[in-house]
Parts: sequence; C-alpha cells; structure tokens
Amino acid sequence: MEFIESKLQRLKQLRKQRPQYAEIYDFYAGLCRFLQGQQLGWLRCAPDLDGWEPRRQAGFPLLTRDALQIDAAAASSFITALIDTFIEHGQQGEAELKTLSAAISAGDIASDKLLLACLEKDRAPLEAAANGLEIPAALVEYVCSTALAFGLQQWRDTAPQPLFDGWQEGYCPLCGAVPAMGELAGEEGKKQLHCSICACDWSVTRLKCSYCGNEESDSLEYFTAEGEIGYRVDLCRKCSGYLKVVDSRELGAGLPMDVEDLNTMHLDLLAQKEGFAKGKRTFRDG
Ligand SMILES: [Zn+2]
Ligand SMILES: [Zn+2]
Repeated sequence: MEFIESKLQRLKQLRKQRPQYAEIYDFYAGLCRFLQGQQLGWLRCAPDLDGWEPRRQAGFPLLTRDALQIDAAAASSFITALIDTFIEHGQQGEAELKTLSAAISAGDIASDKLLLACLEKDRAPLEAAANGLEIPAALVEYVCSTALAFGLQQWRDTAPQPLFDGWQEGYCPLCGAVPAMGELAGEEGKKQLHCSICACDWSVTRLKCSYCGNEESDSLEYFTAEGEIGYRVDLCRKCSGYLKVVDSRELGAGLPMDVEDLNTMHLDLLAQKEGFAKGKRTFRDG
C-alpha cells in the first residue's frame, strides 16, 4: 500500500518541522499504520463506465450507490477496529466512540447504510443514527467517511481508473466529494483539485471558483500566511468559499494531500475567521 507509506513519510518529516503539532501528526500516523495492516474485504466497486458518459455530461460522478457492494458484517468489523484505533491514538470523544462501536457491533446500526450515506452526502441517516445514540453526528460522519475513504483509496490503488479529462466541476468525478486541497502543479502551475474521500485528482481552470464557477477576477483573491512557503488560500467573494492550495513548484510534487490538509488547519481557521467556508457540492441542473 504505497499510498499509506507516502503519508507516513510525510508525517515524519512534518513532525520534525513543527513539533508543536506532534500530537496531531501522531494521531494520524497511528491511523495510517492501522490502515496499512487492513485488507479490503468489505467493499467492491463495479462502476458502469459505459453508462456514465451521458450522466458525466450532466455533471454526475461515476460512483453511485448501485456501483458499491458492501459486505455489512465485514464492514462493521472494520469500523469497530477503526474506532479502537481512534480511541488508542486520540485524545477525545472516547465515551461517544465506545457508544458508536457497541451499537455497530450489536447490529443496532447498519454500517453499510451509513457508508452509502457518506458517499451520497445524505446527512439524514447519519443524523438519525447519531441522535438515537445521543452522540454528535459529526463524529459518526468522521468515522464512516474515514472508512469509506480507505475503501475507495484501496480500490483505486488496485483497479484501472477512468480518465477524467474535461471534468470541470468543483467536486470529485469519481465519488462526488468536495476537494480537500487544490494544487498548482507542473512548471506552469496548472490547478488540480484533490478529492477529500477517494483522493483522486482532476484538473480545473485556475482563475475560476471551483464551487460557484465565478470567473470575475475582481472577486477572486487569495491570501498566504507569513513565513509559509508553498501554501495559499483561494477565496471567492461571490460565494464566500475558500480552498487551500499547495504550490508543488515550491514544495515538490506527489505530496499526500490529506496530510497537507492536516498540516494547514491554521489556514482553515484564518479563512473561517474572515467569514469564508469550505465549499459544498452543488450539482448543475440536469
Ligand atoms: Zn473522490
Ligand atoms: Zn465562488
């Protein structure tokens, strides 16, 4: 699993650069090491590539719930082991995590339905499960999104991938999630977006808001933080969306973007303090 090895390497490097964030890096490294030992026995993806073309034209991502086959019992075992890892390496939410784990083990909560809800960004099943257990919905979503992300990334690691040429939406062509990060790549600094769930990337127009499609240069801006080389935050004054961007001409190519996302949490805080929010997925009509 090369994709996990590269994350561990980068975390090690960052830990030396910013020892004050060691706790966060160590938590994530613990999670990566757990995932490294996991087999993907609970998820199969069989996307309908031929049937995608007309749907793709209308802005729909490739993977729908029909394309995913989830072995619910195996997924539940995976998720409870994942929760054990969160408890082992994390500093908070232990009681809530244990409540969730017990409900999944007992079969009170259908893990396959929650994983599909994460894929479809359907908050209702996640909120219903959380409310029933009196735990935060964000926690249920975090656990299930992490599981889904691992499943899809491992599948991507082994399966041949379709090409995403021409996809210009601000959400992932494969799974429909919003980007974790943008990247300015190659000598010309072409803009790419990196999916927050399946980790695939796709090219977009640089001077355009990837959330609302705004191309007016006077309402598109960016800021950088003092002393931070290679990172910037793109802002759109039309939809108040922001996107953190790695300039790989400064930092090098091939960085694991979920780790870069983690490493730039202070930029999220700065953007949010100014009234900007991470974009949401909005489908075009059709
Ligand atoms: Zn994706
Ligand atoms: Zn916008």
